[in-house]
Amino acid sequence: MNDALPSTRAAYAPPRPAGSVTLSDVAPRDGLQSIGPFVPTETKVAIIRALYDSGIRRMEIGSFVSPKAIPQMADTAEVLRAALDLPGLECTVLVPNRRGYDMALAAGAHRLGLFMSATESHNRSNLNRTREESFADLATIVRDASARGIALRFNLSTVFHCPFEGVVPEEDAMDWIERIMALDPAMEIALADTTGNASPDQVARLFDRVHRSWGLRFAFHGHDTYGMGVANVYAAYRAGVRIFDSAAGGLGGCPFAPGATGNVATEDVVWLFRRMGVETGVNWAGLLKAADIAATVQGGTPGGRLRGVPAARAA
Ligand code: ZN
Repeated sequence: MNDALPSTRAAYAPPRPAGSVTLSDVAPRDGLQSIGPFVPTETKVAIIRALYDSGIRRMEIGSFVSPKAIPQMADTAEVLRAALDLPGLECTVLVPNRRGYDMALAAGAHRLGLFMSATESHNRSNLNRTREESFADLATIVRDASARGIALRFNLSTVFHCPFEGVVPEEDAMDWIERIMALDPAMEIALADTTGNASPDQVARLFDRVHRSWGLRFAFHGHDTYGMGVANVYAAYRAGVRIFDSAAGGLGGCPFAPGATGNVATEDVVWLFRRMGVETGVNWAGLLKAADIAATVQGGTPGGRLRGVPAARAA
């Protein structure tokens, strides 16, 4: 009877290192932008420095949007200046339109994040224009940036679920992804679960389809609103995704996506990959420090599980 033991053990042997993933921490932008009280510039920079010290080498620093629309992002140029001082850190800023594009170029961002929604009502609510208008405007930016050799990330929001229209039919999502794909075959594209209401099987199915059609060039941006954040990251990973957005301390939300709470927490994602033997380049103790700073920002609603697990904190 005891013969079963060794083979059972063998079946649960620690996994061999299973490659690596790239994490882009979006706490400085997605994490902070919907917080009411203005977060002082030095706090934003402190989060970025702590994340950098933990080994994170890619971040979404801010957004060149109208300060009237999103006052929290009014100091993006200043925050970016501080971030650009950190050697080897890739700094992304979001640009909603041509004006933001010009500002981001002048400020020296490494990568520009474009965004629109896969659903009409969210695009209208978030960007105050139709999807066709957004797409036409962003297409001219992509052409200009591609000609200049500027790195881009095209974020397609509400690709799984929309706060107004519910679960997004996969064919609708595929149609928009195909049009975005055609703009620049080298561009990174992120499929975003803006409301956190995607299900892991849906995430796996859509990434399977896009990978089969266009190769492994997609990123996943997930929220943890319904507690599916880590499960969705895992589903995307199994489907071949190797670039993930997450926010230290699980900060986040979207002022135009009712009910959307925090981004999936970076510390939860790092723990997942650490347990799986997947390299993230992140130092665990350093990351907890950064997550603690992010989680105590005044007016923020922190999330994530791992900060609250004593045994994990000691690991
Ligand atoms: Zn988001």
